[in-house]
Amino acid sequence: MASSSSYNSPCAACKFLRRKCMPGCIFAPYFPPDEPQKFANVHKIFGASNVTKLLNELLPHQREDAVYSLAYEAEARVKDPVYGCVGAISHLQRQVEQLQKELDAANADLIRYACGEIQSAALPAAPPPAVNSVHAMSRRMGNNEGGAFYQTPSFPFPYPHPWDDHSSSGNI
Ligand SMILES: [Zn+2]
Repeated sequence: MASSSSYNSPCAACKFLRRKCMPGCIFAPYFPPDEPQKFANVHKIFGASNVTKLLNELLPHQREDAVYSLAYEAEARVKDPVYGCVGAISHLQRQVEQLQKELDAANADLIRYACGEIQSAALPAAPPPAVNSVHAMSRRMGNNEGGAFYQTPSFPFPYPHPWDDHSSSGNI
């Protein structure tokens, strides 16, 4: 059917739509033949004509990012028909809120510890509390989150897909 050489094989979109991939095909730069599932997802969720319209309305330098986000959203929607990528977003938002609470609690403990140390140092009769306080605090803080003590949480980007552990890619 198609020639064995890759330079004239149709893009994944034209192959999927069973049409001839003409020079200047708007899909060709973003849907290479070796990624058939990417277009299949985008077509299933958004529809080929809507994607064509969307790409034509964008400046050429914006199209790659647009296709990336369409493919991301479409894959999420295919894997999670109810929540789509909103499921991943709300999961990450809950994580951020939880980590912010832990960070606030850690900072509050640090302030209490620092104040306690200063007050104790001002009283000559008081025993030095530093060692015990550090142990007590590390016991309080040491809930599984080992090295994260009073560091600002950093999030990897792009975020790992919560659906990655199901399967990598399947058939159309
Ligand atoms: Zn094409």
